[in-house]
Amino acid sequence: MNTPWGYPDFDAHEALHFVTDEKSGLRAIIAMHSTHLGPAAGGTRLWHYADDADALTDALRLSRGMSYKNAMAGLPLGGGKAVVLSTSDRRKTPEMLAAFGRAVDSLGGKYVTAEDVGMSVADMIEISKQTRFVAGLPVAGDEVGGDPGPHTSLGVFLGIKAAVKRALGKDSVSGLHLALQGAGSVAGGVARYAAAEGAKLSIADVDAVRAKNLADETGGSVVAAEEILALEADVISPCALGAILTEEAIDALKAPIVAGGANNQLATPGEGKHLHERGILYAPDYVINAGGIINVSTEYLGDGDASLVRARIEAIPERLEQIWAESTASGKDPAAVADAMAQKLIGRG
Ligand code: NAD
Repeated sequence: MNTPWGYPDFDAHEALHFVTDEKSGLRAIIAMHSTHLGPAAGGTRLWHYADDADALTDALRLSRGMSYKNAMAGLPLGGGKAVVLSTSDRRKTPEMLAAFGRAVDSLGGKYVTAEDVGMSVADMIEISKQTRFVAGLPVAGDEVGGDPGPHTSLGVFLGIKAAVKRALGKDSVSGLHLALQGAGSVAGGVARYAAAEGAKLSIADVDAVRAKNLADETGGSVVAAEEILALEADVISPCALGAILTEEAIDALKAPIVAGGANNQLATPGEGKHLHERGILYAPDYVINAGGIINVSTEYLGDGDASLVRARIEAIPERLEQIWAESTASGKDPAAVADAMAQKLIGRG
């Protein structure tokens, strides 16, 4: 990895912007990893970070992930990401969103934003009052746009089915046990698809009400957040936050498959090898969770309709199968195989 400026996660980012707006209290970082394939596109996360260094690391890792994700999804977009450093009550005002919108606008379209954790469609509307370099806006009827979450869920569910086929030889998740970490937007959609196909669900969220509501709706069981990863299940689906696959967590895994929507699931790149050595099939996160950006991209670029979005999302399993096939042929872990493919696509092979 290329680490100028002394940041281990810098990885040759093209630009980093630190944004401060004293009047509204906005503090944000906009990271642009690569514009090789097009404008750096990736959502904005609003989060309460323990310190500024954590926020920077998150922005850098998420931004690089977007470069890889957009390239692997075949989109004409580079990769970037923004984080808004929030207070513990995750306070968010129209003035802060307006200041953030102005910051995005000042980059002249080199960075395009959308929703991520902590941001909603309503927030994108506020931001769009200041800039046109934003997607994930509400749309009418069959038009492409809106919340990327349901599209991410569809891609993740199709990816889970591909992993189940490869690792367990089954065409359906019917009767299989799926353990979901998170009960938010992405996990909710995955849970509904899986329940409709007859899967048994275990659901954990640090927000107990969210976990219970989703379990009630889908006939699943609530599991304590600290127990979900080590559950005896067929599939572990991380759909909350990143860096959860640490060496220790991987040692404790009992499921043969890890396939979920969260970004940056591997605590370090070495954990991909560790999963592989343990014989656990891993679906590289930025490949399986590309459904949302596929929808955002089609909305922003106006280059297709809802059926094209669906077709692009339905191509996710095929891409995963290519990665797993190359992994089997080369002996390299799937995360390393995907990284090498993505780096080549963004001209850094
Ligand atoms: P969300 O905010 O709707 O849901 C996340 C949920 O995770 C929340 O309910 C939160 O309480 C829970 N959570 C946080 N820490 C947890 C923990 N330690 N254990 C269990 N639950 C925990 O967010 P989302 O949109 O569903 O996104 C989930 C993940 O998927 C994120 O990593 C996000 O970056 C990624 N992702 C989302 C999209 C999208 O379209 N929304 C696209 C690609 C990737």
